[in-house]
Amino acid sequence: MIRWIKRLFCKHDYQLLKKVSKFQNLRGDRIYIICTKCGHEQGSYFSEHF
Ligand SMILES: [Zn+2]
Repeated sequence: MIRWIKRLFCKHDYQLLKKVSKFQNLRGDRIYIICTKCGHEQGSYFSEHF
């Protein structure tokens, strides 16, 4: 409940975070857009290695 209220009033500060998965993808990494203040996940995208 407190978390929910926190998120509601949070001025989100999104950072790009790379989550480490058990199965490492050799072709790229999944990057998550996460608020460092409340932990809200805005979305994710796949970053391919070149
Ligand atoms: Zn937030």
